[in-house]
Amino acid sequence: MIRVAVSGCAGRMGSAVVDAVRAAEDMEVVCGIDPHAPADAAFPVYPSVAEALDAHEVDALVDFTQPNVVADNLACALPRGVNCVVGTTGLSTDTLEDLAATAANDACLFYAPNFTTGAVLMMQFAKAAAPFFPEAEVIEFHHCNKKDAPSGTAVRTAQIIAEARDGRKSAAPGRETEIEGAQGARGALIDGVPVHSVRSMGYVASQEVVFGSMGQTLTIRHDSWDRTSYMPGVLLGIRSVGERSGLVVGLENFMA
Ligand code: NAD
Repeated sequence: MIRVAVSGCAGRMGSAVVDAVRAAEDMEVVCGIDPHAPADAAFPVYPSVAEALDAHEVDALVDFTQPNVVADNLACALPRGVNCVVGTTGLSTDTLEDLAATAANDACLFYAPNFTTGAVLMMQFAKAAAPFFPEAEVIEFHHCNKKDAPSGTAVRTAQIIAEARDGRKSAAPGRETEIEGAQGARGALIDGVPVHSVRSMGYVASQEVVFGSMGQTLTIRHDSWDRTSYMPGVLLGIRSVGERSGLVVGLENFMA
């Protein structure tokens, strides 16, 4: 059995991870970490990662918390040799590399900006399309409680498109068509790719990548309608993280 600790176990994603791990036959939730967890959890819950790891042997720590706490959680777990599966967004690549360098016993820091297999494929399809279309824009749609904008997936998609364009710039104007009082109409420019963020009730997480060329458009769209959509990717990360060491970024590394 893979022994899993879930950090952020009372949150939207963390509680879905708890359900998914408990339903899997090859892993178990040995403890949770969350300062705001209810007292009646079916497993021991601690207010900090240090207290949890002092009390339990853990094979993998899963973290879905907040951008302002995840680094401290990882800085506690990795030097103890605990493999980490991280979905919390907001950490820079430099910070992830610094944290991975503190790992003991060849522990792995696995971070996925998006755990849905569909979003990973959407980014791979966008990479394939980018060289053939002069224009590209990203529109992402999320629930209105999301704290950051644009989403980590939208930023990563824009970066992938820019890399695949190999320096070629979009011909469509990014900002100069804006009229006074309507700044932002053309979105945020991420590596030269306009990114638009919609926040509304009714969405979990959706994204469209719209490519344009003479007389044609190509739209790649992915929808997460439920948080269960992330769980096959999280379970794949938990099963795979022990086979790797150092920093691994992106679920595609484990999708054979
Ligand atoms: P949430 O606010 O519902 O849950 C966060 C939980 O973390 C809360 O229960 C909070 O009490 C807890 N917490 C706060 N401080 C803590 C600490 N020091 N230690 C442990 N737990 C602590 O948020 P959410 O919607 O579940 O999202 C969590 C994170 O996951 C966000 O960064 C979000 O952007 C990210 N996310 C990533 C993916 C992905 O595929 N990578 C998908 C969805 C959300």
